[in-house]
Amino acid sequence: MAGRIPDSFIETLNDRVNIVDVISTRVPLKKSGREYHGRCPFHDDSSPSFSVSPDKQVYHCFGCGASGGLISFIMEYDKVDFVSAIENLASLAGLEVPTEAADPEAGQRKALYEIVERADQAFRKALKSNPNRVRAVDYLKGRGLTGTIAHRFGLGYAPDGWRFLYDQLGNDAQTKKQLLEAGLTVVNAQGREYDRFRERVMFPIRDIRGRTIAFGGRVLDDSKPKYLNSPETKLFHKSDTLYGLYEARQACRSLDRVLVVEGYMDVVALAQFGIDFAVATLGTALTGQHLDRLSRQTAQVIVCFDGDKAGRTAAKRALDTMLPFLSDEFSIRFLFLPDGHDPDSLVRDEGNEAFLSRLNDALPASEALIRLLSDDVDLTKIDGRARLTALALPKIAKVPASIYRSLMLDSLSELSGTRRTDLDARLRDLHIEPTTVESVPTAIPPQNDGSDIDVEIASFESLRPDEDALFSDFSESVEPPIEIEDEIDAPPTLQFPDPNKPEPLVNRLLWLVLQNPTLLTEPFSIPERSRLINIQALS
Ligand SMILES: [Zn+2]
Repeated sequence: MAGRIPDSFIETLNDRVNIVDVISTRVPLKKSGREYHGRCPFHDDSSPSFSVSPDKQVYHCFGCGASGGLISFIMEYDKVDFVSAIENLASLAGLEVPTEAADPEAGQRKALYEIVERADQAFRKALKSNPNRVRAVDYLKGRGLTGTIAHRFGLGYAPDGWRFLYDQLGNDAQTKKQLLEAGLTVVNAQGREYDRFRERVMFPIRDIRGRTIAFGGRVLDDSKPKYLNSPETKLFHKSDTLYGLYEARQACRSLDRVLVVEGYMDVVALAQFGIDFAVATLGTALTGQHLDRLSRQTAQVIVCFDGDKAGRTAAKRALDTMLPFLSDEFSIRFLFLPDGHDPDSLVRDEGNEAFLSRLNDALPASEALIRLLSDDVDLTKIDGRARLTALALPKIAKVPASIYRSLMLDSLSELSGTRRTDLDARLRDLHIEPTTVESVPTAIPPQNDGSDIDVEIASFESLRPDEDALFSDFSESVEPPIEIEDEIDAPPTLQFPDPNKPEPLVNRLLWLVLQNPTLLTEPFSIPERSRLINIQALS
């Protein structure tokens, strides 16, 4: 699909499709008065706390507070994104989804999705039937993985050789070009093209809609590199992709927390041990874009770090990225692993329960901040405590104003023996703005994928600077630099909506957000966002 879905179509859907019809195919409902009641599908509901109003076309749960309209229900219940929800509802109503302003690149991306999907199928088939698959199968069995988990994650096998994909998918000029653009083949100095992934176990990397966009491949012996990822392509951007997020959403009815680990093997191994809410970054540190994505999926993120010095340094650096996301509704915790362990080896060693109790004891970011900063100071001395205050205040200043921030200041006050009022005064003097509207585009995943009309994201299109410039700043191991935020300081060029004129949904949303910046700095759950979209679409 290409282009933007017109607002009028969303209104049409709300007119044509009865919310009761949609929900009652998924949740048993009983009529009482003008409304319908049933057991809430979003929490463990013993009494029917879930009510649906056909007049208002909304649902609400008095138990867990879940609420929204037609589209948000489909997004939440079916675990699909906005566009897929619209498509599902449209097909229910027998309507074609119209689009505005077709994207010239959409066709090219569609072809890329198709070629990646075909490669995915070829790798999976090879794991089942290629004559040389034994080593791959042995490797996976050696890691204790069952067929069920291999299937859930769509694991595959890229056989040795140089032209497996040409043999499987064709070697006409068109296919060759697409394979190259999808990062599945590489071209050497002599201009010869060959398979990027050879003799590796293949981990398909999926987007939130479940479409494969790239691959990770792990070697079967000691050769280097141990892990190889697809390069950046039109479909795949490392800095906003998390391996396993789609699978976690599918596995958990409500994603209460997400564990962030380093490698895809960790994600798969943890799932094998029943811990099916782990995701992995793909060769980068956790970025603001990752956190933005996560803050829309869950209320708590636990990030794993090695317990050694390098791990603590990495954790310190990560804090800078995390602080602007902390709020009363979204918490981040740190799990420092015992020496010499990764999550995979730890869960194998200790088992599911011990690992889960480690997660429960993971250090809240506020405590991690103080502890990490205390590493270098002597808290028994006055100058040490003064130094801690000097180090911690600029960091705390990055946390959006919230009860959480206030508690951090309380705890700093206690530790450093500085009066809270003095800390507040110092904080004001620092003039470090907590997350502002301008800083938010950093956190919005730059989506090249125009076929993916994510309204929340599309609404910032006009605020975003040149995407290439943004990406050139994301080096492999460096945190998303704060400087990026500065780059985006330029005022938005967008025209604000004229109340007397119909405006595209995107403009109205952007306007709404600029009026209420807290909508962005305080992560809120999907139902609320969806409701926002619905309300705006209908207003
Ligand atoms: Zn509920």
